[in-house]
Amino acid sequence: MKPRILIVYTGGTIGMIEDPKTKALKPFNFDHLIENVPKIKMLDYEIDHIQFPKPIDSSDMNVQHWHAIVRSIADNYDSYDGFVVLHGTDTMAYTASALSFMLGNLHKPVIITGSQLPIGEVRTDGEENLITALQIAADRDRYGKPTVREVAILFENYLWRGNRSTKRSADNFNAFKSNNYPELAKIGLGIYFQREALRKIEVEKPLEPHYELDTHIMSLDLFPGLNEEILRHQLATPGVKGIVLRSYGAGNAPTSPWFVNAIREAVERGIVILNVTQCVNGSVHPERYEAGDILAGTGVVSGHDITFEAAVTKMMYLFGLGLPPKEVARQIAIPIAGELTV
Ligand code: ASP
Repeated sequence: MKPRILIVYTGGTIGMIEDPKTKALKPFNFDHLIENVPKIKMLDYEIDHIQFPKPIDSSDMNVQHWHAIVRSIADNYDSYDGFVVLHGTDTMAYTASALSFMLGNLHKPVIITGSQLPIGEVRTDGEENLITALQIAADRDRYGKPTVREVAILFENYLWRGNRSTKRSADNFNAFKSNNYPELAKIGLGIYFQREALRKIEVEKPLEPHYELDTHIMSLDLFPGLNEEILRHQLATPGVKGIVLRSYGAGNAPTSPWFVNAIREAVERGIVILNVTQCVNGSVHPERYEAGDILAGTGVVSGHDITFEAAVTKMMYLFGLGLPPKEVARQIAIPIAGELTV
């Protein structure tokens, strides 16, 4: 049986062409993209595609687009062995994180890729990324099961867990990295899977797509000089239910009473505040310093080593389930799709 793969084309640089007037890159259609990768025919796969009605620059990505991607996968789940999502790099890590929560019980590969240079350019990275993504989506283990059974990002030399990934370069072909989790595969002369890092599925359950995401979420960045009035305004944002607080180092924050009180009052009003570190690598350890301990004492929840991208999308997902704040605060620190290490 030939592997059956469904490509979901959302847009991004990979399919873009230059506007003759402005010289700026703008999204273009799927036929243009495929015409530029004649090698795809050399893969003995059955490939179908779904295209966004209007392919987008991923800076325009929103919750409705995530619904559309999840629907494309859920409606076709049983008919395909794997899925490749073509996406711009700018918000790819957010989409990968969101899909990992929205696609409950996923046990087939969902490989997201794109490129830094448009597919029509001589030195494009898009052709290789697309072909490798298709090969990974089609790969089977010795029991005939898909090798990858999760949402992952394939880019240049690596396959990363989607909800552990971050865009780290606007210029480099190796644009993504997972700072707190090993690569799922290295891409060189071959595709070398790191089997111990891949997500294991004990029992295959039917896919359970979740479409509800609650966007009453915001982020708050700490920096020396943060002003009380501005902080209090942010914490009093109408409708806000959850805040991802980007703290220092191992999860530390100012110990001044005005800061601690403002945060405590927000938590008492029922706002869920998740503590993630501004460091690219490492985890929140509230117990390590007094400055982290005091913050934890206000009821702020530790996000451990979760990425910012996974933190915001997980909050949207948990509030989207209709859970009360206490329950969101409890579940947010428990891994759902391998996004954090407790
Ligand atoms: N702005 C583009 C996008 O995210 C960048 C890219 O695809 O690399 O759609």
